[in-house]
Amino acid sequence: MLRKPVARIDVSALKHNLARVREVASGCKVLAVLKANAYGHGMLNVAEQLQQADAFGVARLDEALALRAGGIVKPIVLLEGFFDADELPQIVASNLQVVVHQQEQIDAILAAELDAPIRVWLKMDTGMHRLGLPPEHYQAAHQLLSQSPNCSPGIRLMSHFACADDLACPDTTEQLQRFHHWTQGLSGEVSLANSAAVLGWPHSHGDWVRPGLMLYGVSPLLGKQGAEHDLQPVMTLCSRVIAVRDVAAGETVGYGSAWQAQQATRLAVVAIGYGDGYPRNVPNGTPVLMQGRRFPVVGRVSMDMLTVDIGDVMIRPGEQVVLWGQGLPVEEIAALVGTIPYELLCNITPRVDFSYMGGN
Ligand SMILES: *Cc1c(COP(=O)(O)O)cnc(C)c1O
Repeated sequence: MLRKPVARIDVSALKHNLARVREVASGCKVLAVLKANAYGHGMLNVAEQLQQADAFGVARLDEALALRAGGIVKPIVLLEGFFDADELPQIVASNLQVVVHQQEQIDAILAAELDAPIRVWLKMDTGMHRLGLPPEHYQAAHQLLSQSPNCSPGIRLMSHFACADDLACPDTTEQLQRFHHWTQGLSGEVSLANSAAVLGWPHSHGDWVRPGLMLYGVSPLLGKQGAEHDLQPVMTLCSRVIAVRDVAAGETVGYGSAWQAQQATRLAVVAIGYGDGYPRNVPNGTPVLMQGRRFPVVGRVSMDMLTVDIGDVMIRPGEQVVLWGQGLPVEEIAALVGTIPYELLCNITPRVDFSYMGGN
């Protein structure tokens, strides 16, 4: 029994969550987003298990090439497109699809000499103001590209929401209206919805939905948890107790002596820390699970360890500890440290072992 952190990946939960996407966005095609190592879950393993997806989305060329090198043959979309014309031959050779979001990319595609046409997802900036063509340039860009032999027929029409996680925010409706206004008369399959829009904005579903976070069983909506959408957590981050010890009233624990025992206290030392991706800034009282019960973290999280007040419960070295996942939603830990679950999942470091369970 290794006393080190393990991210247990529940493959049946992953498949369940994809099935939930299909239920909620019925009739839509699904582009499953696998960027950032599949939100920390292991990109290639996740891709292999998501055979039911219609396509995969990644942020960068090297991610797409890693999927191809791993034997993934499904369509792959580069969500930020390409950055330099010299990437185009490799994109064609690896049969990748590209998001086109700025004029330089259009110029490069029109000027290129390619062995085969590329499938383009033409992105409009409807209000996020990060990537995307200005709405008033969109029709002209669409026309130029659709006349180019370097573009596969059937340019896809896409945009991205800034605030879909907030169901009370009017921006999403405005973005949607702007998109429909400026794509009037254009043919092509439409893709707008990230996880939050899949769950919260059914009018936005279009032809292709692009879920990331919800595939991993986590709610993208503010103040919600995956279970409320019938999603199941895919990652359960675990470790083990490596020592149990007593401190007397008045003694302090850990770096900076930041926590002081008010009374005689029994502590478990757990083999996980910020060097594994567990956030250093969890407040005192942040829960961990042992034997299905919650115990509070006390004192500072160090690189390889953290300390937990175990009260009078019989906990011994070797006991399994859950930091988040089944029984302890990562949404809750993220809220306690003032971040979003995306960041906690992505931050898992390579020294954490991965264990994939529940596959076929
Ligand atoms: C990351 C990303 C998504 C997925 O977002 P989630 O909030 O994780 O569902 C969808 N579309 C684009 C363009 C993205 O970059």
